[in-house]
Amino acid sequence: MFETLLLNFLFLLFPVVAFLIFFENKTVSFNRKVLVLLSAVTMLLCISKPIKLEVGFIIDLRYIPFILVALFGGYKNAFPLYVLLNVYRFYIGGPGTMQSFLFATMFMILVPYYSRKFVSLTSKGRILWATMISFLTVGFYLFTLSFSKVGSDKQFWLIALSAATTYVGVMCILMILIEKIIANIKSRERMVQSERLNVVSELAASVSHEIRNPLTVTSGFLQLLNKSKTISPEEKEYVKLSLQELKRAEKIVSDYLLFAKPQSENMVYSDMSAELEYTKNIIMPYASLHEVKVIFHFNNKLKKYYDQSQIQQCLINLYKNGIEAMRDKGGGTLTIDISEKKQNIMIRIQDTGIGMTKEEISRLGNPYYSTKAEGTGLGMLMVYSTIHKIKGSIEVESEKGKGTTFLITIPT
Ligand code: ADP
Ligand code: MG
Repeated sequence: MFETLLLNFLFLLFPVVAFLIFFENKTVSFNRKVLVLLSAVTMLLCISKPIKLEVGFIIDLRYIPFILVALFGGYKNAFPLYVLLNVYRFYIGGPGTMQSFLFATMFMILVPYYSRKFVSLTSKGRILWATMISFLTVGFYLFTLSFSKVGSDKQFWLIALSAATTYVGVMCILMILIEKIIANIKSRERMVQSERLNVVSELAASVSHEIRNPLTVTSGFLQLLNKSKTISPEEKEYVKLSLQELKRAEKIVSDYLLFAKPQSENMVYSDMSAELEYTKNIIMPYASLHEVKVIFHFNNKLKKYYDQSQIQQCLINLYKNGIEAMRDKGGGTLTIDISEKKQNIMIRIQDTGIGMTKEEISRLGNPYYSTKAEGTGLGMLMVYSTIHKIKGSIEVESEKGKGTTFLITIPT
């Protein structure tokens, strides 16, 4: 019996290992399909090698991949497994087919229902939940069996107990492994992001600084030339155009400098109320132009050191994105809320715009990622880089067609 148990455990590990080795770096939607497929294979393997207990009573671990897919993937992903399970069961036939079908159907209706809640739990919560659900599943299964077949003899309950322990134990170990993999992927993503931001800010700082000096010198000489009396009006026009373009170049350079290290002359120790006030005045005309109603809330007494102009720019970038997301919907509401929570300054920026898919959220903050014709994709990069520099974190919640919420947490 121990060998069979090990074999089953190996089957269950198979999708986890295969995923780790081959698919970890692929896109989200592709991953889902592969995981469902791998789980299906595991399910068939588990059914084909059940653990034989005495008294002609068998137990197999087919419901473990089912539970995992149902919890992590919801109805859409669990459905193929449900179909497969029943097709296989009807093909085998024999007594208990109907019970098995009813059981699977009840399971299919109930478990994926909690998927949304499950995914939003913490890692520990998920481990606990999945273990609990596997316990309830196997408990219920044994409960129904106790009526139909072996009845109430003591031997049966001993076996039942060991079966339940196996089930729950295997589930718990698997969940710990899966959660560990998720945590590793997340921490690697964070590292890559922070590395990228460091590179950008260093590059931006050095290049912008280097270019600024020649620009200043050139524009100074051009201004002198402009005052000269010996040049013709036509030539003067050229000089004027050159000066204009130089000004534009300077603007771009100073925008890039925002990515650079915070500047000491801009550093303030404050509660962000001045920044909210300033950015409010800047964004109001833009909002009313696009029929967007803006609601401001401020309730914060916590203070922090930060680069004032970077925070202003960061807020403006977020407001602008929100308003632009509502532009094509013909208006909406932008809610900006600065508050405090347990020694953290919380900034919430919510729009009722077009929203984003999970895929799009994951690409936010990549340099040059933009879905707008006139977009640069630098806005969110600047936001991430600024918040990163003051050790804050950004959470994005979004639903396609409904709107987006940015929640920024800044520790003080
Ligand atoms: P840009 O605004 O120039 O396109 P950003 O870096 O500011 O560049 O934003 C990158 C992309 O992220 C946008 O093109 C848009 O697709 C998406 N995005 C950002 N904020 C929102 C939002 N509030 N609602 C919907 N999509 C958004
Ligand atoms: Mg933008």
